[in-house]
Amino acid sequence: QVHGYKGVKFQNWARTYGCCPEMYFQPTSVEEVREVLALARQQNKRVKVVGGGHSPSDIACTDGFMIHMGKMNRVLQVDTEKKQVTVEAGILLADLHPQLGKHSLALSNLGAVSDVTAGGVIGSGTHNTGIKHGILATQVVALTLLTADGTILECSESSNADVFQAARVHLGCLGVVLTVTLQCVPQFHLQEISFPSTLEEVLVSCHLKKSEYFRFLWFPHSENVSVIYQDHTNKPPSSSANWFWDYAIGFYLLEFLLWISSFLPGLVGWINRFFFWLLFTRKKESSDLSHKIFTYECRFKQHVQDWAIPRFPVSPIISRGMGPHLLLLPTRPYGKDVPRLDYWLTYETIMKKVGGRPHWAKAHNCTRKDFEKMYPAFSKFCAIREKLDPTGMFLNAYLEKVFY
Ligand SMILES: Cc1cc2nc3c(=O)[nH]c(=O)nc-3n(C[C@H](O)[C@H](O)[C@H](O)COP(=O)(O)OP(=O)(O)OC[C@H]3O[C@@H](n4cnc5c(N)ncnc54)[C@H](O)[C@@H]3O)c2cc1C
Repeated sequence: QVHGYKGVKFQNWARTYGCCPEMYFQPTSVEEVREVLALARQQNKRVKVVGGGHSPSDIACTDGFMIHMGKMNRVLQVDTEKKQVTVEAGILLADLHPQLGKHSLALSNLGAVSDVTAGGVIGSGTHNTGIKHGILATQVVALTLLTADGTILECSESSNADVFQAARVHLGCLGVVLTVTLQCVPQFHLQEISFPSTLEEVLVSCHLKKSEYFRFLWFPHSENVSVIYQDHTNKPPSSSANWFWDYAIGFYLLEFLLWISSFLPGLVGWINRFFFWLLFTRKKESSDLSHKIFTYECRFKQHVQDWAIPRFPVSPIISRGMGPHLLLLPTRPYGKDVPRLDYWLTYETIMKKVGGRPHWAKAHNCTRKDFEKMYPAFSKFCAIREKLDPTGMFLNAYLEKVFY
């Protein structure tokens, strides 16, 4: 019988959101997950599944039952001919990469971190960049879903197609994703080249077409931009990064300066220019296996807003694009909270005006009315959710805002 724990406190990676679930479960098999759902039905409890806990919002929070998928993390099948892998949804991508490597396979695109699970990244619409690449959920060719009543649905383009379309970005509200089958590509190496530029230059140039995975970082309160190209390469692994400056001094010093600026906000522009001058005015190159180039060590805990907007209205905070995704990152030096709400409200108003859509995993203040305008098929998703989960077993405060 599956054992539940009381008194567990859940916090997301950035420690910006947390909750105290009434019971915390770490099932090791489908049968155990089923048991948790049966108990929840019996006791009329809500259930929330959590993967890597990286979402910078309360999307994975609950005061009901929490199911942590960390023990359902096996690679179930590798089809080398089709280049597809079937995994249990709780597998961390960090553990999947070496397993794929053994078969000379890789994921075609990734977000910035790999300490996230297959079920979690697809569920929130996690993306990277690249005009030819979709969000990670577009790599899913099949999945299995355990629904609120204990039924297992095998979903793909040819089986339960409507549920499949919805469940690829499931928001954790359709059931427990048990397995995911991902379309992979032959293993590849990437070369990353970063170089300095200006905001004006990147907004008028066609960088998106010059690099397969293009993104840029803007240092607000200045014109400074760091342009980043990532492209396929045959070059052996190498890096021109200077560990001492780029990591040790650069980031520790920056965190310290940002902490000072939390008392003296007028310094932020100066710090941004200094930091850019210190670390981003030199052209840098590195090459390695794709997953090592896609991901990077995220040193600062942050509050994050992340919106996709249609190409190319000019907007204030910018990062990367399949179309552009604009990230706003008030950092939390040494975990200190920084005032951000007024800033966010203004930012959200601008994003909505230019037809933006918020990242599902990240903080936003949108409600059903907003989503109905943003997504033509939103009511179809709602209908599927209501059918699969009529009692709202998988809802939480975040999802109530989205659906009601
Ligand atoms: C440092 C950092 C860097 C990031 N970089 C990027 C980036 O580059 N691009 C980007 O788009 N996002 C990025 N994110 C956001 C991150 O990719 C998403 O939050 C992602 O969903 C996290 O995966 P997870 O496994 O931690 O999911 P969780 O946060 O644990 O869960 C996400 C959602 O999925 C649900 N869920 C998880 N597993 C299951 C399951 N098996 N069945 C049903 N529901 C489930 C949860 O209930 C929740 O609704 C970043 C976040 C951090 C902290």
